Amino acid sequence: MRGHGFLPLNVKATNVLHAALETYRSYGDEAYAKSKANSFLKRCGVDPEHGPSTLVRRDVIERVVYAALDDESGELFWLLLGSAIAIQENLENWLFSSVQIKKWDFEKHIYESVENKYGAKLVTYPFDPDEIIRCTNCGKEITAEESMVSKQWHNEIGFGFPVCVECYQTEWKKYRAEKEKNKAHE
Ligand SMILES: [Zn+2]
Repeated sequence: MRGHGFLPLNVKATNVLHAALETYRSYGDEAYAKSKANSFLKRCGVDPEHGPSTLVRRDVIERVVYAALDDESGELFWLLLGSAIAIQENLENWLFSSVQIKKWDFEKHIYESVENKYGAKLVTYPFDPDEIIRCTNCGKEITAEESMVSKQWHNEIGFGFPVCVECYQTEWKKYRAEKEKNKAHE
């Protein structure tokens, strides 16, 4: 198991839920993600109906991740949890001070310089969940709450721009297909 010493010893349940939700959203629809994320939180000893600010111990989370997620999704979960915490700790001014946008090419493994066609902006905490924003990739109008953190559209330090759930799932399909292809070549 990888160490997660950079995370605090106690993590707010709301951040755990957020990271679990986004992790499971890469596999299925919203209903699936919500039920999986809720049971993830229950396994951490937290009732999802109560206490978003309940603290969960990091070693408890580590055990649940180890039992519930495979290596790839576990890695994603820690990444998402790390950003959720960083955001909450008001590091956003530093983290999101830029407006640069670049797009990851899954086949060439490089960033392309791209145009921000729909004027997409990073969704940072705290945000208005009902605010209408546009998917960075297809331009579809979605609420901030519905948006996913893109695996492909990033600012210069690699933080994801918002995309709609369909584009998010397409990104993951491309990512996994490319991974399979590379495996076959080994
Ligand atoms: Zn889209």
